[in-house]
Amino acid sequence: MEKQKLVIASGNKHKIKEIAEMLPDFEVVGYKDLGYDFEIEENGETFYENALSKAKAVSKALNLPALADDSGICVDALGGAPGIYSARYAGDGDDEHNNQLLLDNLGKLTNPKERGAKYVCCIVFYKPNGEILTATGETSGYILPERVGTNGFGYDPIFYSYDLDKCMGLATAEEKNSISHRFRAINALKEKLR
Ligand code: IMP
Repeated sequence: MEKQKLVIASGNKHKIKEIAEMLPDFEVVGYKDLGYDFEIEENGETFYENALSKAKAVSKALNLPALADDSGICVDALGGAPGIYSARYAGDGDDEHNNQLLLDNLGKLTNPKERGAKYVCCIVFYKPNGEILTATGETSGYILPERVGTNGFGYDPIFYSYDLDKCMGLATAEEKNSISHRFRAINALKEKLR
């Protein structure tokens, strides 16, 4: 049977690949791969608001079902930052810059217990008829004092995962995909798609 096309409202190739691996029943494509080339604003106050505005914009423009992920790391000692304010918190930096900023901001805290953090993911699936399905997922750990490994992306090289008992930067794609915030959110969404 032909797979249903599902457009991912993200320009982040790492995320599109992760989501494609988790949704093998769909033909997963990034919106930019369909020649739709503009940056989508992320002005929301919550992960849900951002995910909804991204999924809606892409679904409306292409008249196809669209899925958006809004995700980030929430650090206890920083009152949940960078979290939803990731871009605003870190400025226009790349992953390297963002990781360094987080390490600097946690500098004086040396005990892992003081460096607790979680990844949070909110997924919105938007259908052309306006129907919305949503799901969230989390995974816990703490921020390491320095980078470990080069796998993954974003904050992975400084995030120690309790589920994997190692840094995400050392995890294979399969290991990360089995416990990640996105995996948990996508799984919860799959239940709703049944
Ligand atoms: P956004 O969902 O693209 O806005 O991502 C917000 C921030 O969270 C970015 O800095 C990402 O690098 C980070 N982030 C989201 N998911 C992951 C992940 O799976 N690993 C590492 N960083 C992530």
